[in-house]
Amino acid sequence: MPVPLFDLRPQHASLDTELRAAFDRVLRSGHYIMGPELTGFETECAAYLGVKHALGISSGTDALLLAMMALDIGPGDEVLCPSFSFFATAGCVARLGATPVFVDSNLDDFNLCLADTARKITPRTKAIIPVHLFGQSADMDGVMAIANQHNLRVIEDAAQAFSTRYKGKSAGGIGDFGGYSFFPTKNLGALGDAGLLVTNDDTLAERARILRVHGMEPKYYHQFVGANFRLDALQAALLRVKLPHLDTYTAARQRNAAYYRAQLLPTSAIILPTANCQLSTSTHIWNQYTLRITGPGQRDALKAHLAALGIGTEIYYPLPLHAQKCFAHLPTDPTTLPNATRLSNEVLSLPIYPELPEAHRQQVVEGINSFQAQSLAQRQK
Ligand SMILES: *Cc1c(COP(=O)(O)O)cnc(C)c1O
Repeated sequence: MPVPLFDLRPQHASLDTELRAAFDRVLRSGHYIMGPELTGFETECAAYLGVKHALGISSGTDALLLAMMALDIGPGDEVLCPSFSFFATAGCVARLGATPVFVDSNLDDFNLCLADTARKITPRTKAIIPVHLFGQSADMDGVMAIANQHNLRVIEDAAQAFSTRYKGKSAGGIGDFGGYSFFPTKNLGALGDAGLLVTNDDTLAERARILRVHGMEPKYYHQFVGANFRLDALQAALLRVKLPHLDTYTAARQRNAAYYRAQLLPTSAIILPTANCQLSTSTHIWNQYTLRITGPGQRDALKAHLAALGIGTEIYYPLPLHAQKCFAHLPTDPTTLPNATRLSNEVLSLPIYPELPEAHRQQVVEGINSFQAQSLAQRQK
């Protein structure tokens, strides 16, 4: 029986009636851009996250881009961001003509390293983008302390962390802006591209709201050069169906993570991810369950072993951003990014989606344990 990395169908099958009703409601309304579905979704998200302003955005990437535009980030500015992340984090910085300055990550929680962040601040540094990678918050107390000390802006890339809590607050609701993604494989997934931008600052919210519609206020009068960053009414309506179920989905992911922790044999070669949150007021929502497999070639060997058993896995991310061709012109010193490079060689994400059948979880565990037994036997030969 093949075990895919994820399957989006069962979740939507269980909501079939409600999703079709939402679609019909939008279809009949004649209102497809902005309007009550969008404002309804924004109000529900703001209440759920405990933030003052929430704006539906065309994608998570656009939410980050819009945040940086609202903060006037541009040529001459440096923006600190982790090298071990999805491309969008640094891509938005570069698209605005600013310079991404890559920061190393922690090996234990995959999030940005505060010591390296502080070391890389220069007079041109304008902002920090902590990424709450795989569904666990970065050390936001530490990030905010550095930002306050150096008068820097903070844009949280919370694309993988919609509903993650950090010391009682929503990850994404702590810095100047937080950007979320509703890409279908994120914890709250749309049926297409969708995102959200949040802030607690009234002035920044107003600026972002205007920039979302071409910098237009009032109609056909443009104060700034914005773009079209709107979320479709249809996606907003569909997401409103799914939002009330999110905590149930998260609980299922947490159960899957607990199962892996209990069943996988931790060895020196395979390092299991930890929920680095001792406090009950912080959570890990497990957008990804990511192992580290140490030893040259071992990660790829495990991936191949599981693939041969029909088990889907993925490498998030195989090449750190500082080593990407499009950033080759930047004056990055790769020797300052040893963990980012190491993680790219060691990480492997397992199936963790909420509806993952129990039999599949078991197959994943058996697959990994048989790999361990096989490597042990080889070493003893
Ligand atoms: C998914 C993701 C994004 C981009 O979100 P989209 O909705 O796909 O544009 C940005 N940053 C990180 C860390 C992500 O995982």
